[in-house]
Amino acid sequence: MADSGENHAGSEPQPSNSNETSASAQDVQTEFLDSPQKDDGAPRREDLGYDLFQGREKTYRETMTSPYGKFENLFDTYHPRCKTKLTVAMKSNPFVKLLLKAMEESGCSMYKDRHFSCEPCGYKVAGGFDPQANQVVLCQNIISSQGMMNRVLTHELIHAFDHCRGKVDWYNNLQHVACSEIRAANLSGDCSFSGEFRRFQLKGVKKHHQTCVWQRARDSVKVVRNCTDEEAARAVDSVWDTCFNDLAPFHKIPRNKKDALRAARFRYDYDI
Ligand SMILES: [Zn+2]
Repeated sequence: MADSGENHAGSEPQPSNSNETSASAQDVQTEFLDSPQKDDGAPRREDLGYDLFQGREKTYRETMTSPYGKFENLFDTYHPRCKTKLTVAMKSNPFVKLLLKAMEESGCSMYKDRHFSCEPCGYKVAGGFDPQANQVVLCQNIISSQGMMNRVLTHELIHAFDHCRGKVDWYNNLQHVACSEIRAANLSGDCSFSGEFRRFQLKGVKKHHQTCVWQRARDSVKVVRNCTDEEAARAVDSVWDTCFNDLAPFHKIPRNKKDALRAARFRYDYDI
């Protein structure tokens, strides 16, 4: 994003159902979909997702209009609870631990106090990745459980991993954003299935997963880039094959924690 470290290239919209996942921007073609721009050519704040993360706005305290109102300022229990969940996820969740290891191996070690930020957000998103500040943003007023923290953190770390690989133009290329959103929806477990679904609808699982990933990627692109359904869908379609099949740092689409453990051994000879 273009301005003062407050942009959120890869944000996760509030899920409309319980699924989501991801892929890489490495081999994405650069044929284009126009980015929304002002007359002077620079993207507008609202088109880059700035307005979704009120906690980064200087005027947030004065302008907040959440259902919790000013009480959130006076009795802020969200922040410490968010930080506790973050600590637990970093210490114990195999998806998160694998991604942290992958970042380290790629030369982009992530430190809790520097690269993660629990903040209040608008009610459209649960988390985001700010490429300019190189920070994962976790929406303390939205993330309500450890499971949600694990999933949001995994999703955003996939964006951070793509950023680390260095081939994502978050600000000017909608296809790059779409690619990272496909990967984040495919690999984070956002589109995982319940055991019941697996048992009774085996033939439909693969198709359902792809549909879920596609929809989530389109929705994420739409929210964080303030574009139309059609523009977001075109961006996702244009990079789908490359990005859906880019599974790094996993070796297959992870279905559960065991797959993350196996990926750590397979990729990094690392036990987590
Ligand atoms: Zn995302």
